[in-house]
Amino acid sequence: MLALICSLPVTNRAQVEKTEPENSKFPMTQSPTYNLEKAEKLARELRDKGIRDKAVLAAIARIPREAFVDEALAEMAYLDRPLPIGEGQTISQPYTVARQTELLELEPGDRVLEIGTGSGYQAAVLCEMGVEVYSIERYEELYQTAKETLNRLGYFPKLYHGDGYEGLPGEAPFDKILITAAPETIPPKLKEQLRVGGRMVLPLGGRDRQQMTVVKRVNETRYSTSTHEDYIFVPMKKGTE
Ligand code: SAH
Repeated sequence: MLALICSLPVTNRAQVEKTEPENSKFPMTQSPTYNLEKAEKLARELRDKGIRDKAVLAAIARIPREAFVDEALAEMAYLDRPLPIGEGQTISQPYTVARQTELLELEPGDRVLEIGTGSGYQAAVLCEMGVEVYSIERYEELYQTAKETLNRLGYFPKLYHGDGYEGLPGEAPFDKILITAAPETIPPKLKEQLRVGGRMVLPLGGRDRQQMTVVKRVNETRYSTSTHEDYIFVPMKKGTE
């Protein structure tokens, strides 16, 4: 059994090295040193775009997003845009990551289930915020890569290769659930795995466009929902590959 939890926020997790030449390359087997100036700049940009939660912005400023994309895309890693990560999937736009995290209204020690590990970047943001992270990815290849990246950077969320529609019944209930791919309706098993008083944040709607939705579990049987801005996510697909 995996008994590791995410470590609490540490300011210099990815050691700040201001003198590093911008395009120096590191062998993959070695833990690289990242210059976090660009991550700090990205966090300021997200603040200017309306992200209010200071803990979210601080987390973004501490994470080398370049570590979560292919080396060939490193130059673009701190732009506020999604990037391809293989298997036809994307690492979400930083604004979207920040907005979804903000809407979760995290509290220290929350048990958070993420659906769609993808690159692992969102999981790193959650780890930085001092919550206990569980994350499921349906593509084995992405699951493996995300695990290696996260562990190399010192993040140890509980990662699973599986179908997010099933959730993790053995670990439920969760205080918060975050879905980073678009289902057509709220997955019923995930609703059941939400603690009473808990919140689920997910993009909901059709294939072409979705509305960011917050579902709160009011009591055993009642849920309330509120809706926010529109986004475009990759679809949440059944089964595993
Ligand atoms: N949170 C990710 C975003 C990845 S995009 C990041 O920070 O990079 C959404 C991810 O959801 C993709 O990797 C996709 O493969 C995954 N996904 C889609 N349907 C899924 C399902 N049913 N269960 C688990 N993961 C799923």
